[in-house]
Amino acid sequence: MPDLYFKKCTCPYCLKITETKRVLSRHARVASTDFDGFIRYKGSNVYLYEPVQCIHCRFFFHESFGKLSPDVRVMLQEHILSTLPVLPFASTERTIEQAIQLYKLCLYTAQLTEQKAAIQAMLGVRLSWLHRLIGQSEEEKLWASRAIEKYVSLYENYTSTQKSGIPEEVLLLRIADLYAVTQDKEQARLWYGRLFHSQEATDKIKKEARSHWEWVQEQD
Ligand SMILES: [Zn+2]
Repeated sequence: MPDLYFKKCTCPYCLKITETKRVLSRHARVASTDFDGFIRYKGSNVYLYEPVQCIHCRFFFHESFGKLSPDVRVMLQEHILSTLPVLPFASTERTIEQAIQLYKLCLYTAQLTEQKAAIQAMLGVRLSWLHRLIGQSEEEKLWASRAIEKYVSLYENYTSTQKSGIPEEVLLLRIADLYAVTQDKEQARLWYGRLFHSQEATDKIKKEARSHWEWVQEQD
């Protein structure tokens, strides 16, 4: 496909370069955006091409992954890398189902290598969205509720944007939106409410939250 190109990515484990397909940003065409920020694309879908498999060591990763500690590297080497499947479609065009498989493996390696909760939750949100795209609403809600668990514990232990990997106001909006996805309106109301009454949140994000909440209330 002409709107895909090979991008060079460095593997966080073996530090070698792997080429992976990406959608040319100037060719990404947005068809519409859902209330929670999920973009529907005309033509190639940008989300499908985020997970990467290293062609040298089999490690699955997302470009948001941080450095791996020495202990984690030993554990990967001794117990994990040889058990990971080699997926030929990881470096080519992908179907939604193949991308889902890659995201699940990325989430698995994110957990094993103790990536930030914000990264693990983001991968869960992506999985929820891809299931929405193929109309599997039970799976969509399941992955949304897993992302909620991660985000809520992140909120309860929140320190700073830098350490937590996400601004607090964005975190509140994500949690509220995810509760809306799981159709738990009471929790959605509570978390949007926290944003509306927040002293620190910007007017911009409050306005966004209001329009999300209005959209949620119209659904039934
Ligand atoms: Zn590697």
